[in-house]
Amino acid sequence: MSGDIVNLLGLPRAELETFVADRLGAKPFRARQLMKWVYRRGVAEFSQMTDLAQDFRAQLGLVAKITVPQIVTQQQSVDGTQKWMLAMDEVQGIETVYIPEPDRGTLCISSQVGCAMDCSFCSTAQQGFNRNLSVAEIVGQVWLAHREISEIRGDGRSITNIVFMGMGEPLANYRNVVPAMRIFLDDLGYDLSRRRVTLSTSGLVPQIYKLAEECNVALAVSLHAPNDELRNELVPINRIHPIAELLKACWHYLEKQNGRSVTFEYVMLDGVNDKPEHARALARLLRGRPAKLNLIPFNIFPGTRYRRSPAEVIVQFRDILNEHGVIAMIRRTRGDDIDAACGQLAGRVRDRVVTRLGARRGHLHSSVQAS
Ligand code: SAH
Repeated sequence: MSGDIVNLLGLPRAELETFVADRLGAKPFRARQLMKWVYRRGVAEFSQMTDLAQDFRAQLGLVAKITVPQIVTQQQSVDGTQKWMLAMDEVQGIETVYIPEPDRGTLCISSQVGCAMDCSFCSTAQQGFNRNLSVAEIVGQVWLAHREISEIRGDGRSITNIVFMGMGEPLANYRNVVPAMRIFLDDLGYDLSRRRVTLSTSGLVPQIYKLAEECNVALAVSLHAPNDELRNELVPINRIHPIAELLKACWHYLEKQNGRSVTFEYVMLDGVNDKPEHARALARLLRGRPAKLNLIPFNIFPGTRYRRSPAEVIVQFRDILNEHGVIAMIRRTRGDDIDAACGQLAGRVRDRVVTRLGARRGHLHSSVQAS
């Protein structure tokens, strides 16, 4: 690696300290200064890092750079939600969404170009899968959004929560997602508390166990069905890791990480998984457990065969769960006029390495093993 110009964006603190020591003979505090410039102040040019010695900056420029993704398009919803399409190379694009609320600002980030999980109700799944994002590409989404939003709002404290609910299955890109999360949590990085960084997964059980040992963040799980027969159809990874196994992994995660609860996401599909008996079956699964349910009204996209459950059906579903002692909330739809709502992110996925049908068999297995 000597001789390479290294992209410092996303390098965890310990690695950055080693880098400045090995390549520049500098003390660890130089790494800490660099982190403050890059993440707190959002500066990517070494020449602007004015409290670093001139010659250190010059040396740094010879061995390192800070490369951030390029914005292809930016759209704003009537509700204030922002969506950016970011170029990952000449042909691929991923999407990042910022959702402002009175008391918080949530950034929804992507972990892969496309997705191989093939969930039947998700727009990203229709695109197929191209590749994992690097740590720099994951952290770069936050860096860019931070800069863009600060410009719009004129303050620096605009991103209070980060959720891996954009394109891709974060646990299938474990190797890059975990170091990125460390930057989100680091007090010299984005300094977010572990309850404000949420990893959402379709249910890669072995990686949930691994995460329980290695990184402490909030866990959200895309459940979407109360029984294996239906979940096999909606979330095909269930054929490999069925519900009982998944829930066991979730409770293990909470115990290990001393977490309060797991959020289970449940998309409301008209006539498919929204009947009172589904709500009762869900309550039997989750009653007495540290679980919250987030009911997501289905967001349509071109070519889908599903419809959104009527509002009164969703309310009734929530009420049944609450009556049976399970906390359930209805997620407010945001940004759907710019296709920025849950499951609507399509990005630009070319040169897919698997097609949708290919994903059903071969690739599911390999993404489960890749970590
Ligand atoms: N791969 C991760 C992140 C996916 S996106 C996961 O599966 O959890 C975040 C949430 O949006 C998931 O719960 C996903 O199932 C849900 N989702 C996908 N498509 C949707 C759609 N069309 N309408 C509503 N929610 C959807």
